[in-house]
Amino acid sequence: MAKVKAIRGMNDILPHETPVWQYLERQVRAVLSSYGYSEIRMPIVEQTDLFKRSIGEVTDIVEKEMYTFEDRNGESLTLRPEGTAGCVRAGEEHGLLFNQAQRFWYQGPMFRYEKPQKGRYRQFHQIGVETFGMSAADIDAEVIMLSARLWKNLGILDAVTLQLNSLGSNENRLKYKEDLVEYLMQFHDRLDDDSQRRLKSNPLRVLDSKNESTQQILRDAPVLADYLDDESREHFSRLTDLLDQAGIHYEINSRLVRGLDYYCKTVFEWVTDKLGAQGTVCAGGRYDGLVQQLGGKATPGVGFAMGIERLVLLLETLNTIPESEKVSFDLYIAAESKEAQSDVMQCGEFLRDQIPGLRIKTHCAGLKNINSKARQTGAKLILLLQKGEAGVVGTLWSEAELIAQVPLSGLPSLVAQQWQLIK
Ligand code: ATP
Ligand code: MG
Repeated sequence: MAKVKAIRGMNDILPHETPVWQYLERQVRAVLSSYGYSEIRMPIVEQTDLFKRSIGEVTDIVEKEMYTFEDRNGESLTLRPEGTAGCVRAGEEHGLLFNQAQRFWYQGPMFRYEKPQKGRYRQFHQIGVETFGMSAADIDAEVIMLSARLWKNLGILDAVTLQLNSLGSNENRLKYKEDLVEYLMQFHDRLDDDSQRRLKSNPLRVLDSKNESTQQILRDAPVLADYLDDESREHFSRLTDLLDQAGIHYEINSRLVRGLDYYCKTVFEWVTDKLGAQGTVCAGGRYDGLVQQLGGKATPGVGFAMGIERLVLLLETLNTIPESEKVSFDLYIAAESKEAQSDVMQCGEFLRDQIPGLRIKTHCAGLKNINSKARQTGAKLILLLQKGEAGVVGTLWSEAELIAQVPLSGLPSLVAQQWQLIK
C-alpha cells in the first residue's frame, strides 16, 4: 500500500532542526519580555467572516489563499492565515482593548494556499506583536526598535534593511487611489495581467508589481506621500525622528503598501537580499480602523509579524547560530561494564538533582562498542561508569580527552566545573 505523505507545503520540523527554532523563539521571547509584552494564544480556526471583514475581500489572502471549510454544523470556518484578526477578535471579546494600552504577542502556525517554494509554504509560522490604544508614533517606533534589537541579538542586523512608508488616512488613500487609477488607465494595455485585474479591485496593489513594464509605467505615477494630510505627515516625521535618535537606519519606500486592507499611516518591512525572492522577514504597520471595522469601539493599533521559516533560513545562511545551540544535551552517561549498568539511571538522576540545568542523556541500549557509540552521539562530555570494590567510579571525558576518574560523590563538582568550560 502507498504510504501517506505530508500535505504539500506543510513541513515537518525535524529533531535536528528544532534547536534552531527554539533558539530563535527564546531570543524573541527575551526581547519581548524586556519590553513588557504579554503572550496571547488564540485558536487556529476562526469564523471565515472574521478574515473577510478584516483582511479585505479583494486581497490575495481572501481571494485565493484561505483554507476554508464547513464544519459538521454547516458553519464556514477558516484556518487562520495571519494572527492580527484573531488577536483583535479575542481582545474585543474579553474587553481588553477599549480605552486601554495593551502590548501583546503570539506565535504559531498560519495557513495560506500558496505555491510552495523556498521561504513560502502552506503552513508556516509567525511570531507577531500587536499593540492597542496608543495613537502616537512612539509605539510605532517601539515595535520597530524591538525588532531591530532582536536582529542585533541574533547577529543579523547587517543583513536586513528597514523599508518604511506612510499610507496616511483612509481619505488620503481614497483620493490617491482615484488619481493612481486615472494615471494607470492611460497605460492599461501595457500593464501585466495581475495589475490590470488589481486596477479594478485593489489599485494600490499595482504598486507591488514586480513586472518590468508595469514598473516602468509606475516610475512617473503619482506618489502617495504627496497626498498625506498634516496629521499623517507629522506622525511620520515623529516616527523617523525617533528612529534617527535610536540610530536605526531606514529607507523610505513610497511604493510600500502591504497586502492587507487594514493598514493606515505607518507601514514597514524588514527585507533581506540573502534569501532570493522571499526576502521579507518581518512586516507590519498601523491599523487604527481595524477594531471598529470588526464591531468594536475605535481603538488604534500597531503590530507586525515575522516569518519564522525565513528567519531560520537567514540564520542558517549567515551561520550565526552559536554551536552550543545546535546540541540538545551536554553529558552522555553510559556503563563501561555490565555490573555498572544498573547505576546509569541512578547516576543520571543524582546529577540532575545536583546540577540544575545540566542536560543529560543516558545510554539505554547494549554495551557493545560503548566508547565509540557514546562519541557518535556528538556529546561534549561523556561519563563512563564502572563498579569497583568501593562502589561506583566515573570516568569523565571531554570528547576524546580524559579529564579524571572519581567516585560517585566527586562527580557533581567535577561535572559542574567541566560543564562551565564547554558552555
Ligand atoms: P509575501 O509578500 O512574501 O507574500 P505577505 O505580505 O503575504 O508576504 P504578511 O502577511 O505580511 O506576508 O506576513 C508577515 C511575514 O510572514 C512575511 O513577511 C513573511 O516573513 C512571512 N510569511 C508570509 N507568508 C508566508 C508563507 N506562505 N510562507 C512562509 N512565510 C510567510
Ligand atoms: Mg503573501
